[in-house]
Amino acid sequence: MEPQQRSPLLEVKGNLELKRPLVKPPSRLPLSGSRCKRRLDQMEDVLEPEKKRTRGLGTVTKFAISHHRAPVGTTVPQTQGQAAAPKVPKKTGPRCSTAVASVLKNQKAAPAAPAQKPGTTAAPPKLGGKKPSKRPGWDLKGQLSDLNAELKCYRERTQTLDQENQQLRDQLREAQQQATALGAERRTLEGELARVRAQAEQGQQELGNLSARVLELEERLGTQEGLVQELQKEQLGLQAERRELTTRLEEQERRLQTSEAALSGSQAEVASLRQETAAQATLLAERGERLHGLEMERRRLHNQLQELKGNIRVFCRVRPVLPGEPTPPPGFLLFPSGPAGPSDPPTHVSVLRCDERRGTLSGAPAPPTRHDFSFDRVFPPGSGQDEVFEEIAMLVQSALDGYPVCIFAYGQTGSGKTFTMEGGPAGDPQAEGLIPRALRHLFSIAQELSGQGWTYSFVASYVEIYNETVRDLLATGTRKGQGGECEIRRAGPGSEELTVTNARYVPVSCEKEVETLLLLARQNRAVARTAQNERSSRSHSVFQLQISGEHAGRGVQCAAPLNLVDLAGSERLDPGLALGPGERERLRETQAINSSLSTLGLVIMALSNKESHVPYRNSKLTYLLQNSLGGSAKMLMFVNISPLEENVSESLNSLRFASKVNQCVIGTAQANRK
Ligand code: ADP
Ligand code: MG
Repeated sequence: MEPQQRSPLLEVKGNLELKRPLVKPPSRLPLSGSRCKRRLDQMEDVLEPEKKRTRGLGTVTKFAISHHRAPVGTTVPQTQGQAAAPKVPKKTGPRCSTAVASVLKNQKAAPAAPAQKPGTTAAPPKLGGKKPSKRPGWDLKGQLSDLNAELKCYRERTQTLDQENQQLRDQLREAQQQATALGAERRTLEGELARVRAQAEQGQQELGNLSARVLELEERLGTQEGLVQELQKEQLGLQAERRELTTRLEEQERRLQTSEAALSGSQAEVASLRQETAAQATLLAERGERLHGLEMERRRLHNQLQELKGNIRVFCRVRPVLPGEPTPPPGFLLFPSGPAGPSDPPTHVSVLRCDERRGTLSGAPAPPTRHDFSFDRVFPPGSGQDEVFEEIAMLVQSALDGYPVCIFAYGQTGSGKTFTMEGGPAGDPQAEGLIPRALRHLFSIAQELSGQGWTYSFVASYVEIYNETVRDLLATGTRKGQGGECEIRRAGPGSEELTVTNARYVPVSCEKEVETLLLLARQNRAVARTAQNERSSRSHSVFQLQISGEHAGRGVQCAAPLNLVDLAGSERLDPGLALGPGERERLRETQAINSSLSTLGLVIMALSNKESHVPYRNSKLTYLLQNSLGGSAKMLMFVNISPLEENVSESLNSLRFASKVNQCVIGTAQANRK
């Protein structure tokens, strides 16, 4: 507590301490307080009886005093004084009455001579301790002198006593004065004491009140102190928290500043990027425009290129000798290099034929005849599927540009047509044929073109034409392998588009779906196969893909079919064979096949010669493909050749047919654009 905030209790105590001297003032009397008090009381006591005596026995006292003054010899007062004397000490205090007592004692100690019996002379008083010798009765003179001496002695004594009395009176007066003063002082002190007591009581009461108040305040103080301690603790906690928060705040502010700096940087960057984006968007729009123009230009040039290559092209592919097959004599098949040397892709094939029926005049065997053929491209036995596809990829892409495309595989049975179109054993990616490769290529290009706003859809169908009947190779369920009747019809009245009734047209968008369809087609062919007749060799398999493209932004649409045709074996029936029931059936098959293949040749010729009548309807195959063979179409024919010498005749037939086709030039193709 601050010294200035002194508690009321302490203040009261202090005041009491200060007042104390007032209660007990230093006595001016030589005696200590208590002793003085007592002596005062005693003196009063002494004085009081004196007064009393003065009041009650005044005459006696006066008498007694006057007795001392009385002349010696008056016995009566002496006797009375003697009789009264013993009463004085009884009423006198033990201490303060010393002087008075001593006077009285002296009076007592000097008793008057005992009353003499009448007739006897009183003995002279003992003076100076010297007892006068007893005088004979007759010695009156002596007795008188003794009495005079005694009187003298008494007188002296009286004088002494008077002096003493005077002294005592003085002392008494002084004592009375003192007593009066002391009484006044006492009264003052008593008054003061009473006042102080009252004050003390009041103070005590106040003290009690204050003590209670102090206790209450102390209690409150304790509570407040507890509260203060709690608050201090809380304050400490809050300060620590505040410090922590301050630190965090500073950290956050730092981060904020960094972020703000980064943000302003980013905003500037964003602004510049926006500007850049706007510029880019403009540029992009320009580029899009330009790209579209370029795309159309590319299509035009691509088409031109295809036209330059020929709207109908023929590729010759010779399959390798299979394990177990006889090795052909060296030089049987030759693949002469092109004009640019071995680096040039081969376009020529030569077949050396030894005709045993022909002979020289000398009888020696005739020298082998060399038959040279030239095609757009020749693939020797070692050529892989990828190499072959690479050559036709551009042509396949023409279908996406809206040009109908037809790719045939022509050749005798076992020459590798199916291998070329569908591929080798399933699961060998290297042996994958043109159909899966072409579709994958188309899907991928369509995906790329979607970035330019083109949307493509693909619908696949797969049919076979056997003996001029059309069967769905994608048939499922009860129709599977049954060869239910399918007819080729126009899609609608006045429509150029042809469809196969009862055939499935399956939308495809990925390789997996195409794989499933090819597998289903194989299964359908397997069901139809008989022991005597490998029907797949005796029928044409036509895989058709309807491609539809649209550029919504520009309102451009295009649609074209891609046809991949695995033709029936082109081999002729040996005319020397006996005609049994099986052979007759076989002959009919063969005639149908030959007829349709001839019709194909004739159609191509008619188109090439721009004849007014094109005999599409002469066969189901040409009828079905008529929209893909016209002037707006592009055609590619693979002539598949067996490497075996034993197949040389059929090989030559195929090569001759292909050569004829190769010489055809169909008019400028037109894209089917709307
Ligand atoms: P086609 O369909 O003309 O009757 P295939 O395609 O069935 O002939 O081929 C006959 C056999 O020759 C099949 O076993 C096939 O795997 C095989 N073959 C054909 N061409 C090739 C080739 N380029 N490479 C390897 N094997 C081939
Ligand atoms: Mg085949």
